[in-house]
Amino acid sequence: MADDYDVVIVGGRCAGASLAIRLARAGLRVCVLDRAHFPSDVPSTHGIQPAGVAILRELGCYETLAALTDPIERATVVVDDARIEFEGATELLGAPMLNLRRSALDAVLLEAAVTAGADVRTRTVVTGLREEEGRVAGVVTPEGPVRARLVVGADGARSTVARLVGSAEYCRTPPERLFLWAYLEGTEHPPGHVWIGRIGDHGYLASPTDGGAFLAVVAPAMSRRAEVLADRQAAFDEGLRGWPELEAVVAPGRRIGPLHTVPDWRGFFRRSAGPGWVLVGDAGHMKDPTPGQGIADALRQTTALAPVVVEGLTARDAPALDAGLRRWWGWRDRDAWAMYWFARELGAAGPVPLLTAEVMRRVAADPRRRTQLLRVLNHDVPPGRLVTAPLAARALAGALRRSPGRRIQLLREARTAVTDELRHLRPPVPA
Ligand SMILES: Cc1cc2nc3c(=O)[nH]c(=O)nc-3n(C[C@H](O)[C@H](O)[C@H](O)COP(=O)(O)OP(=O)(O)OC[C@H]3O[C@@H](n4cnc5c(N)ncnc54)[C@H](O)[C@@H]3O)c2cc1C
Repeated sequence: MADDYDVVIVGGRCAGASLAIRLARAGLRVCVLDRAHFPSDVPSTHGIQPAGVAILRELGCYETLAALTDPIERATVVVDDARIEFEGATELLGAPMLNLRRSALDAVLLEAAVTAGADVRTRTVVTGLREEEGRVAGVVTPEGPVRARLVVGADGARSTVARLVGSAEYCRTPPERLFLWAYLEGTEHPPGHVWIGRIGDHGYLASPTDGGAFLAVVAPAMSRRAEVLADRQAAFDEGLRGWPELEAVVAPGRRIGPLHTVPDWRGFFRRSAGPGWVLVGDAGHMKDPTPGQGIADALRQTTALAPVVVEGLTARDAPALDAGLRRWWGWRDRDAWAMYWFARELGAAGPVPLLTAEVMRRVAADPRRRTQLLRVLNHDVPPGRLVTAPLAARALAGALRRSPGRRIQLLREARTAVTDELRHLRPPVPA
């Protein structure tokens, strides 16, 4: 006889555990299965946008997490010669940023799921799905089947649930950069400060993290993959030399552990709902990690998904549940769409386009636009509200004046920007 639940969630990290907390608190019988042991890391860096931190607060996890590291209130953002300093994230955005290793974040979330009443089983791998009357009705594990009225795939970009239901991907994008990062001790840095940069052909992210460590990430172009993997230290050092200010912060530090890398990822959307199943977090959608959106997005998605699940399961009306899940999937695509393409633009390989550099100079020079940039990165407003047509036109005119000899390059960049904008107006309607 299989164990019997309302919901089985495959994957117990930011997507799975946050959903489990909400569903268990609503009185549903929830089982979370994860093949990992906890605490443990996933190959990812881990800046959590203030919008995500606000959700962690709502879930009751903020105090525990903020005790593990200084909340981040200040930022230095550099795009080539444009420099922006921010102060007071909480005042501007309602919450600070947090930078916590996943071993810390996910363990706290999973513990909260247990406290809420979820049955959490770690070191348990899901290998198959159960079906009843044409619906997914649970999962198969080596320890036996687990029956449930809804199966949630919160099992990351290589989702087993997505594979088993045959979920197709759409709007795929190849990776442009690989991410290379180190944890250091003994660095000399102000507390609660994050550095975000795009200089030359490198991306950067750095800030203090839990356990008194400092995280420094450099992101060279994917075209250099073989060379970077052959000598990670040389590639990391070379990247740091591209931003001397960050290099100076890191210089007194000693590396703890290896240099980490994710040399292989891609952007995609997946069909994310069907009879008795739904995909959330990276299982359903993955974007370029450059603007650090994935964790806050997972929390945002489960906030929107939980009431749909509670309502559908409480009504005991399977067609209504399926329709609610499909509507949620459509919302997820609309919610993620503009940021998906903006993230791809931010993470694009190659030097900063002349037009982008000019736009950023204008953003840096205008306090209202600086705040708007923060709001865009926090997923409060779409990128189009920052880079408006008049701003883009003025930036193009300014860049043509600044670099008259690069006229053809600039006009090409402008044409690409307009074409991309038109191609990416709205997400495809799920069939
Ligand atoms: C290089 C890189 C850098 C990033 N940097 C940032 C950043 O700075 N900020 C940010 O917000 N986001 C960042 N992201 C994105 C972020 O890591 C993801 O969006 C986030 O991890 C998604 O969480 P999740 O819960 O959906 O999936 P995951 O964190 O991938 O968790 C999935 C879980 O499912 C479990 N699982 C998988 N298959 C099975 C199975 N068959 N049975 C049982 N369990 C299973 C796994 O063990 C795992 O614990 C980055 C990503 C990458 C690749």
